[in-house]
Amino acid sequence: MSISTGERMKITILGARGSIPTEGAEMLEFGGATSCVLIETDEWAVFFDAGTGIVNAPEIGDKKIAIFLTHPHIDHLLGLPFFPYITDKSKHIDFYAVKSGVLSARQQLDKLLCPPLWPCSADDYPANFEFHDIEFPVKLGDISITGIPSVHPGGGIVYRLECGGKSMVYATDYEYRDDHIGELIDFAKDTDLLLFDAQYTDEEFEKRRGYGHSTPSLGVIVARKAGAKEVRFVHHDPTHTDEFLLNMEEKIKTEDISFARRGEVIDL
Ligand SMILES: [Zn+2]
Ligand SMILES: [Zn+2]
Repeated sequence: MSISTGERMKITILGARGSIPTEGAEMLEFGGATSCVLIETDEWAVFFDAGTGIVNAPEIGDKKIAIFLTHPHIDHLLGLPFFPYITDKSKHIDFYAVKSGVLSARQQLDKLLCPPLWPCSADDYPANFEFHDIEFPVKLGDISITGIPSVHPGGGIVYRLECGGKSMVYATDYEYRDDHIGELIDFAKDTDLLLFDAQYTDEEFEKRRGYGHSTPSLGVIVARKAGAKEVRFVHHDPTHTDEFLLNMEEKIKTEDISFARRGEVIDL
């Protein structure tokens, strides 16, 4: 379905799985593709992360393409070599990342697209890549993107995207910590859509502090305090089957809060 005005955003969850892709009949409802979210406006197709979900990017016509990396962990980059538009020589791809340690955006991608891990580099693909070391805010036409640091091993970015008076916040690979959560709640204030990392159950979280992920119950606290209008939990643990996730979801589900499914579309 096309969007008739520049005031609207269409958000598609292309990958909601965390850490590593999964497959199997017990993983069909939430999907096994790793982190990728597509935000479409009239002019732009903005991808947050390039996990294996980006392999199934839909038809975007002649929209401009930008990819924003939260951090260069492999589950957030693994789909890029098979991004459908990477083999289209008419496409220009703006690739954005915050410097990770001493590595530029280009160098972060080169770590993956480089022998012996992969036979070719970004330069070898027909699409034209342009690399950007992010300085906030980033403006893409009517879109404005800002960010704050995540709480995650090696660092990461939480993004907020605004367009036409609507907003969304993408907080994946984020560990709820009492000394940082206030900054995220302020950053996500009154957002129309919050995507929040809820990889673990409460029990798992206690055993995996420092791994850089959160839980649905902590996500509900963030959502309420921020006043987020809609919430989807993302980065599902690779060991959690559909049945397990449905049980987790049941405990927190409301009209506005649920677990993200691969392929789910949210119109703002
Ligand atoms: Zn991840
Ligand atoms: Zn990570």
